[in-house]
Amino acid sequence: MIIKPRSYPLRLRKLEALQRRLPPHHPKNSLVQEALARTRAGYHGERSIDFHLNFIPHKNYLIIHDLRLFDGQHFFQMDTVLVSRKFILILEVKNISGSLYLDSDIYQLSRTLNGKEESFPDPLLQIERQQLQLSNWIQNQLSLTIPVESLVLFSNKQAVLHLKNDRDSEKVIKSEGLVNRVNVIAQRHDKVCFNVDQLNSLAYRMVQSHHEPRQSVLESFDIKEFDLVEGVICQSCLSQMSWLKGKWQCSACGTRATNSHVLALQDYACLCHPQISNKQARKYLNINSEDTVKRLLAKLGGKKIGTYKSTKYEIPLENPKR
Ligand SMILES: [Zn+2]
Repeated sequence: MIIKPRSYPLRLRKLEALQRRLPPHHPKNSLVQEALARTRAGYHGERSIDFHLNFIPHKNYLIIHDLRLFDGQHFFQMDTVLVSRKFILILEVKNISGSLYLDSDIYQLSRTLNGKEESFPDPLLQIERQQLQLSNWIQNQLSLTIPVESLVLFSNKQAVLHLKNDRDSEKVIKSEGLVNRVNVIAQRHDKVCFNVDQLNSLAYRMVQSHHEPRQSVLESFDIKEFDLVEGVICQSCLSQMSWLKGKWQCSACGTRATNSHVLALQDYACLCHPQISNKQARKYLNINSEDTVKRLLAKLGGKKIGTYKSTKYEIPLENPKR
């Protein structure tokens, strides 16, 4: 049973907003594009294993996707965790294409693609650290012990994976082998560590302790708010739209739309601040009328904070109900 589904990552939304709002000739553009491509590939890789997870015996496992816990000193993030009464299994998904070579003697994963060689962090080191952190976390939270296992799944179908050391195939596989491997691991653990109440209590405690990363994407790239393009951007041709007679109109391609400000304000929430005042929104959306902006902000359906001139409107990242 899935007790925490995978949702669209906030960091990915923030990077998409940044790509829309960064002027084309900004010096950080290529860095942002690379981060966006990597984050998007990571998310697609994680989603691709959901198909395989359908085939594991669901009654035996509570499945938690995208879990980020704090161990008292550091945050640690796990793509998927399977919790059973006999063991816990952490899955780390790598969506990397090309010819891959894992040399665990020197802790290096290298990839050759189109004649270019690149190095990546050793995923075995990463999951071994996660295993230790999760074991300690469980011990600290509930004074319980249970074996914690981990697997690295390479999800890219075209990738060719080579392992220098045969022993690494215990922990590193292509994602097609997930179901078989989960069954093999389950056979290794026949001792029941938890009763059903303890299992539920642990799994729900894990979900409740999840910390959504809140890092500012502008700070992480050292980009200033004043570098960003303001205004409502036309979805068809990327030109600026203006508010005319109750609709957004693109002067370049003639597109007309009623809700184009919603994405613009969500970009603002992703990149600058989760709330906006009427005055800030008038400048950002390039609308002079205080009443019009008041109406548009109220229709977003977010919370209103403060009163009179200091009122701020929360910008929901879900799309408003129409
Ligand atoms: Zn247009």
